[in-house]
Amino acid sequence: MRAGRNDVPRRRSGRVKATALAAALAGHALAGAPALAQDAASTLPVVWVLATGGTIAGGGASSTSLTEYRAGAFTGAELVSALPALGRHATIRVEQVANVGSPNITFDDWLALATRIDAIFRDDPDAAGVVVTHGTNTLEETAYFLNLTVRHDRPVVLVGAQRPATAISADGPLNLLNAVRAAASPEARGKGVLVVLNDEINAARDVTKTSTYRLETFRTPDLGFLGYVDGDRVAFYREPTRRHTADSEFDLTGVTAFPRVDIAYSYVEPNPVLIEALIEDGVDGIVLAGTGAGIVSRRERAALERVAGLPVDARPIIVRSNRTGSGRVVPLPAYDQLGMVAGDTLNPQKARILLMLALTKTRDVDEIRRMFREY
Ligand code: GLU
Repeated sequence: MRAGRNDVPRRRSGRVKATALAAALAGHALAGAPALAQDAASTLPVVWVLATGGTIAGGGASSTSLTEYRAGAFTGAELVSALPALGRHATIRVEQVANVGSPNITFDDWLALATRIDAIFRDDPDAAGVVVTHGTNTLEETAYFLNLTVRHDRPVVLVGAQRPATAISADGPLNLLNAVRAAASPEARGKGVLVVLNDEINAARDVTKTSTYRLETFRTPDLGFLGYVDGDRVAFYREPTRRHTADSEFDLTGVTAFPRVDIAYSYVEPNPVLIEALIEDGVDGIVLAGTGAGIVSRRERAALERVAGLPVDARPIIVRSNRTGSGRVVPLPAYDQLGMVAGDTLNPQKARILLMLALTKTRDVDEIRRMFREY
């Protein structure tokens, strides 16, 4: 496991020490809360916390530095030890997988997380669930990747924060507490990878970040979130119906790299050079963030028609998603006949992940269409 990998230059305030976090938390109701007596602790569920950095581990120069701070300034162990109230709900085991702002999460980080979570569930029968602390910017992508590749039914919960750990009214501590409670909850089992922030539980497949700074940033457009984490209990009201986790066919055994899939965004008077360059570059797949119901202009279509003329082995698979932020993209003959795949309700960045994993197994368009119907 890597530790302490930071991606933001240390020009402003230098490394923020754990004592700064303790100071920031001093006076907070959660700081110094008594843990349960030792004998009770042994009966608590075990929850693993795998830390990757992000704003939840962010440190700023002062408590009012809400937009300027260093993501991944604290370790997972520091976040956990600053929150003794966790001890009322679970026995925590912490590991550091990365320590970066989430724009810099890599495929290697995804593989490390999926491999480690698999090993935890295989080797630790006491593990009730796993929490992954993560920056919010790409949290939904990591969540969906794990939703498709962790083949266990015990809960995996991703959590982040909108305000750094050193901020006034930092949201990270309560989010982390709620994520641990969700991961320890028997009701969370079998519901796929979950995202818990702002007291709400969302499904990895459907959730997306919708706001730069607001605390209620994680939303599931149209379909709604699955439940709440409130003071009394973790309360679920619905569950995902698409294939995930234990029911997934995607197997990372032997996978060390992924097929290349990129996203092309549509708008008025698009420059087809972008799509042509991707094809020329030999990408394995392209996701179109099309307008409306996954519709592209004549110009983009002309570039894409060239794909249909390429030899099958050199032909990228094209998935139609859309830029609206919600709703379905359905099969349409004008696109289907060019061999394109309808992305259903997956947003472009999620459609990219499913296509990457699909391409680790097959290049058959009908098989890939089946996967987009099932996952
Ligand atoms: N919320 C961000 C994240 O996803 C912070 C990005 C940064 O400042 O590096 O980690």
